[in-house]
Amino acid sequence: MADVAANSAGEEIVRTYPARLRVMLPLPLAEPLDYLAPEGIATPEPGSFVRVALGSRQVFGVVWEGEGGEGLPLDRLKSILEILPAPPLRPEMRRFIDRVATYTLSPPGMVLKMAMSIEEALLPRAPRRVCVMTADGLTALESADAETKLTAARRRVLQALRDEGACAATELARRAGCTAGVVRGLIAGGLVAEDFVSGEPAAEPAPDWRADGPALSCDQERAAERLVARVHEAGFSVTVLDGVTGSGKTETYFAAIAAALAAGRQVLVLLPEIALGAQWLERFKRRFGTLPAEWHSDISQSARRDTWRAVASGKTRIVVGARSALFLPFPELGLIIVDEEHDASYKQEDGVCYQARDMAVLRASIAEIPIVLVSATPSLETVVNVARGRYERVHLPRRHAEASLPAIELVDMRGHRVESGRFLSPPLVVALGKTLDAGEQALLFLNRRGYAPLTLCRACGHRFQCPNCTAWLVEHRFTARLVCHHCGYTAPLPALCPECLATGALVPCGPGVERLQEEVAARFPEARTGLMVSDLLQGPRAAAELAQAMVEHRYDVLIGTQIVAKGHHFPMLTLVGVVDADLGLVGGDLRATERTYQLLQQVAGRAGRAERPGRVLIQTYMPEQPVMRALGAGDRDRFLEAEAAARRDAGLPPFGRLAALIVSAGDAEAADFATRALARAAPQLPGIAVLGPAAAPLAILRGRHRRRFLVKAERGTNLQAALRDWLGRVRVAGSVRVQVDIDPYSFL
Ligand code: ADP
Ligand code: ZN
Repeated sequence: MADVAANSAGEEIVRTYPARLRVMLPLPLAEPLDYLAPEGIATPEPGSFVRVALGSRQVFGVVWEGEGGEGLPLDRLKSILEILPAPPLRPEMRRFIDRVATYTLSPPGMVLKMAMSIEEALLPRAPRRVCVMTADGLTALESADAETKLTAARRRVLQALRDEGACAATELARRAGCTAGVVRGLIAGGLVAEDFVSGEPAAEPAPDWRADGPALSCDQERAAERLVARVHEAGFSVTVLDGVTGSGKTETYFAAIAAALAAGRQVLVLLPEIALGAQWLERFKRRFGTLPAEWHSDISQSARRDTWRAVASGKTRIVVGARSALFLPFPELGLIIVDEEHDASYKQEDGVCYQARDMAVLRASIAEIPIVLVSATPSLETVVNVARGRYERVHLPRRHAEASLPAIELVDMRGHRVESGRFLSPPLVVALGKTLDAGEQALLFLNRRGYAPLTLCRACGHRFQCPNCTAWLVEHRFTARLVCHHCGYTAPLPALCPECLATGALVPCGPGVERLQEEVAARFPEARTGLMVSDLLQGPRAAAELAQAMVEHRYDVLIGTQIVAKGHHFPMLTLVGVVDADLGLVGGDLRATERTYQLLQQVAGRAGRAERPGRVLIQTYMPEQPVMRALGAGDRDRFLEAEAAARRDAGLPPFGRLAALIVSAGDAEAADFATRALARAAPQLPGIAVLGPAAAPLAILRGRHRRRFLVKAERGTNLQAALRDWLGRVRVAGSVRVQVDIDPYSFL
């Protein structure tokens, strides 16, 4: 590249410059920035990770496609400082990032940020300090009187080191289940030494796709053949694996995974975070002889770094992860599985708002590979895509091994008196008693954390409200605190009412899972009860341990929120009680009935999965509601038709398009000012209607005042273009945030 200028004497001089490149930075910028190719080395190809200066800092970025823009004159541009030693981001990944940004109306840099979430992965691994066994350590461990010479904790540490090899001190303590102090003591005593290692860690052995899975039933075989055929065809396709709970969907898609691995391709399995339990991992290991790489919020920084790196280099062949795993840089991706595809947790609500299932379909289409959407209760979006012929459906109508589907009965709560402070109806109590007498297990489902959803003063009526949000505080007895479930604010439960100073007048209203556990304990003192709720379980591991305890029948009654609904297989569980089926129906959410149906169907599916038949009792005050009737009658298709008709009439997704605009600011006036400016500039286009502005139901969240617009568009209109144009015409103050949520799932 060259440009022509004149010197002071008027002579023409030709200056040559290295190429002008566009570099995408993981920052909220509208476009890549221009930089000059580094001098003295080959020009980096698009996709290369590079280090550049930005103002006074240095940042990592990616060389993007295309020529540099008009922007700054060449002599003002800075040079790329370094090309990083990571495999370049592949063209389909760069296109994916661009397309996600366009679809979600996010700065592309913020999407790139999700794809390079762990910057250490771009650099060579720094040498790490690890613990190694010394000769003295080995002698001590293997001596005849090791039992007496070593404490139990010390022996566990040495055993872990011998059996699993060198590792960092903290990791060693974790493996041995002891404190870091024990490891330090061993180092001081010369039984363990420290050493430095560098380079990449040894990869897990590759999964063995040759190993035979279980013999499949006829239905399963037919479904598996279809999935395998899609893998062999290559090319983009979407297949919906629709099978009742317990029909063996996992075994069936394992066949497709084996086929993709055999074809030398990488595989990505997405699961809702809370379903990423040890049960799934163990099944995988039983089938493929090794564990897959994991990617979710419970993974340590260093494991993330190593996994990102191993995925990018192709060393890791299969990843199972939560939605963010979609942004891992697979070079040879050949199959994506989205299990529990209807699950609302695939929707990310902050930062870049995206629906991971939908974006997974986009990624598959760009990479030209098959994707499989798996569910016992597919989302209406997916059902409609099947009806339109865009997705193919394969069906598993029966439970595996003759297990029958549980009988679902509605308990009309209007016909049963329940004492105040109690929530289990007589039929449910009787059923619980029978189940326990038979030596079987029961599950009580209530989608409410804590002890009681509302605490009020009997003397003056005072209710406890969050100081940061438009929300009541929820009492948690285990921690003896009041908690806001929206922002995490907590305060101790006071002894007196802060309003009227009455003592002993505070009363809990309504049930939470903790209160339910108290009721079960009072009615069945012998029963061993377990509580499965996210705030008492740190991460998927803890949930998995509780699930294991349930499998081993160390509990008789498991009480839980929606985390009990997913994926678990408890052979001795024969009774499921849904304590308040109406909970999810309140509120103006367009998916409220659909979600209620899915959730209750999933919970019901936990019952009677093995030889013993299951029974499900659903407590409701609205047994005539179509969703309750459909559950009682087991008539999913009728329910889906009714739901589809209602949405079609209202022009709601998937028959129309929706976007939400959430305006928020620290003070109400600034929020209102920006909201008015946006309202004045609202698009007036055929096929697009702007509803609002209105105060959001959660009018104050984390101290920010919130206003909402809802944009409804006919299918086929370019919603994103209209929004982009709208937002481009309004300037809002720096203190105001305007968040765009395409295909919103939350309307709070
Ligand atoms: P789903 O995912 O459809 O709810 P799963 O794949 O979890 O069903 O299967 C339910 C149970 O049946 C699991 O314990 C699984 O191991 C077992 N199972 C399913 N198919 C087979 C098969 N073909 N052979 C042996 N066991 C099977
Ligand atoms: Zn709050």
